[in-house]
Parts: sequence; C-alpha cells; structure tokens
Amino acid sequence: MANNQHQVKAKKHLGQHFLKDENIAKKIGDTLTLKGYKKVLEIGPGMGVLTKYLLEKDVETYVIEIDTESVAYLQAHYLNLAPRIIEKDFLKYNLSEVFEDESFAITGNFPYNISSQIVFKALELRHQIPEFTGMFQKEVAKRICSKEGSKVYGILSVLTQAFYDAEYLFTVPPSVFNPPPKVDSGVLRLIRKTDYNLPCNEILFFKVVKTAFQQRRKTLRNSLKTFNLSDNLKANSIFGKRPEQLSVAQFIELTLLIEKDV
Ligand code: SAH
Repeated sequence: MANNQHQVKAKKHLGQHFLKDENIAKKIGDTLTLKGYKKVLEIGPGMGVLTKYLLEKDVETYVIEIDTESVAYLQAHYLNLAPRIIEKDFLKYNLSEVFEDESFAITGNFPYNISSQIVFKALELRHQIPEFTGMFQKEVAKRICSKEGSKVYGILSVLTQAFYDAEYLFTVPPSVFNPPPKVDSGVLRLIRKTDYNLPCNEILFFKVVKTAFQQRRKTLRNSLKTFNLSDNLKANSIFGKRPEQLSVAQFIELTLLIEKDV
C-alpha cells in the first residue's frame, strides 16, 4: 500500500522515466495555451510532477495512468485529483466514457515505448482534441514536426500536420530524469487547424500516405501499385516523386487525383 513517503520505483516495461527537474515540469505545463477547451488529459502522470502544475491552471485536469502503484501514489498525494484519475491503458480505453463528446487537450511526459501509438490514437480523436502538447524522445518529436525534404519526414509528420500546426519547442537532456533515458527528449505543441476537415477522402488519404512511405525510396508510381491506377493518371509528374518530396498539401492533391481516377 502507498504511504506518504513511498516513491514509485521505475518500471522499464512501462517506459517510466520520472522527471526530477521542477522547472522543466512547469515549462511543459506552460506549453498549453488553454484556448478552445476546459479540460486537459495528462497521459502517464506517474508521481504527478507535471500534474501539480496543471492543477494550478484554469482547466479541469484528468489523468490516465496504467500503473497501479503510480495511481496509489497519486490518490494519496493529490486528494482533489482522485475523482479524475483514470486507471487505464490510454491506448485501449474508450475516452468517451469520461469526456463524451467534449473537447479536451492532451499533454504529458509520455511513455516513449508507445509514442507513435499515442499520436495515432490522438489523431483518431482529432475532432475532440484542439491541442496536444508534451514530451517524446527528441527523434519522434522532431519527426512529427518535420517538413518535406527532411530525412525524418514520414507518416507521423504528414498525418499529424494534415490536421495540426506542429511546433518543436525545446530539447530536454537525459540528466533530468530518473532513471535517465538513453536519448534526448523533445517537447512539442500541436494546435489543430481551424479547418481540419480535408478536402479529400480522409480514409483514402491515410492509406495513400502509409502505403507511399512503406517504400520511401521508391517513386509513387511504384509504391502505389496496389491502388491499380490508370496509365493516364500514372503519367502525371507527381508519380515520379518519392514520398518525402511531397508536402501535406501535395498528399491531399494526390489523394484527390486517386479518388477521381477511373
Ligand atoms: N509524467 C511522469 C511519468 C512519465 S513516465 C513524469 O514526468 O515523471 C511515463 C508514464 O506513463 C509512467 O507513469 C507509466 O506508468 C505511464 N504509462 C505507460 N504506458 C501507459 C499507457 N498505456 N497508458 C497510460 N499510462 C501509461
């Protein structure tokens, strides 16, 4: 059982790297603009180092944490938060049980072992998530924010930036964590675009982007073979490009072309 002195010992399989630098925790809390929502969901609060700064803000803070021991710690130390602690796996839990169709922001010092999956789930819920901020391993944070032409530009970059303006904010060294991760960390902020409905079929857009990047060295003419495109369409110069050369707008354009191909 948790008592007030008890600290949670980090569990590797849950990606637990606890922040020990209060300034950085506060700085991550301050990445939220607090515009366009009244509720915030923190993923993976651990012992609440970031949570306490969220609780000072003019928003209702919820946390979702998979680790029973961390949850016991939070319940013992943050009495006011107790009714809004969700002891679940973020990837599996149906958040509409708590938020119904309300908007909420997401933030956190995320578990790095499931970084991409967290982003993909947030993208699925984009209609409810006007803002997403937080910390990933630097390489993932950079990838999400990178532009066409960059080596790390890929599925995460295109799908995220189709719906969100992405900004890489700052880098955090391993030394401020317990235990320290092997890599640098990076904090980012995603703000949903005012008009985030794509002018093309969104399901097809996801499929085109994923398929194109599965073979990122090939031209689109080759990587998109499974779409059975007409020769006429494949003669379009866009198909001579590789996926990393295409901006988000061009991926949308490409999807529209494929949609209209007969
Ligand atoms: N925010 C804390 C802890 C970060 S470590 C801090 O900065 O100190 C990542 C946290 O995510 C851990 O507490 C871990 O238990 C939690 N976690 C890991 N997988 C999770 C999942 N699928 N759903 C919810 N929380 C998860």
